[in-house]
Amino acid sequence: MHTSFSDGSASPEAVVEESCHAGLSCVSITDHDTMAAVKSAQAAGVEWGIEVVAGIELSTQVQDKDIHILGYFMDPDNALLVQKLGEFRATRFARINAMIENLKKQGIDNLSFEDIKAEAQSDALGRPHLAAALVKQGWANSPWQAFDKYIGDQCQAYVPKHQQSPKEAIALIRQAGGVAVMAHPMVTKRDELIAGFVDQGLGGIEVYYPNCPDATIFYYEGLARKYKLAMTGGSDAHGKNKSNTWIGKKRIPCELVEQLRVRAKRSSE
Ligand code: AMP
Ligand code: ZN
Repeated sequence: MHTSFSDGSASPEAVVEESCHAGLSCVSITDHDTMAAVKSAQAAGVEWGIEVVAGIELSTQVQDKDIHILGYFMDPDNALLVQKLGEFRATRFARINAMIENLKKQGIDNLSFEDIKAEAQSDALGRPHLAAALVKQGWANSPWQAFDKYIGDQCQAYVPKHQQSPKEAIALIRQAGGVAVMAHPMVTKRDELIAGFVDQGLGGIEVYYPNCPDATIFYYEGLARKYKLAMTGGSDAHGKNKSNTWIGKKRIPCELVEQLRVRAKRSSE
């Protein structure tokens, strides 16, 4: 799940409280390119009697296609991880600034980086924050329209994110004591890459994802068995920033969490 430290709308404490009300006993915070929410979520977890697994969602690319790699059970203080995440966030800030400059050339001259950052209160600024600003300033009626007209992958103002290969992300997660998992393969639709990722140290795939037909889930259970991968899942809740999912919408049995914990120990050895 995502918090306001990346592109979710709720604080880490609020996410954990809501998880408790949803009847969950173990959750993971997987913000984009930051683990800044993990410790406060874990402290809230102690209060609410929920385990909060340290997590991350890293952006990688294969031939311009965004592949998201999740990591679980890393040490949030791991030196290389802390350093790399700092670099990723710095390039995110520079990228939003570059897109603001590109939009200026199209006559959109009232977007301020400081306003967007203050409004977002986020450590990992992304296009959803820029889309919100475009809506707020009246340039688009909805975030979707902002993407369509101004900041979608094919638009003039678009600037790509920092470049990182899945192999690098997998290695970064593993050296920090974690297990690397391919996020929502049914959304990414690049299953032909999975075998290569397994050779590079991938430990799992996200099989259980909201808004997926059972047949799709059965298919990914099969792929996980074929490649001997851990099966993970969750709601991918972003609070108010993603209306088709919410905390507790997708649940997995505790047994899968225990298998993932074992896998993280093995994966980082
Ligand atoms: P970024 O990682 O900064 O490039 O932003 C990508 C994120 O923007 C995705 O994870 C989605 O949450 C969101 N997004 C992408 N396309 C759209 C769209 N057409 N409408 C609304 N949100 C979108
Ligand atoms: Zn997100």
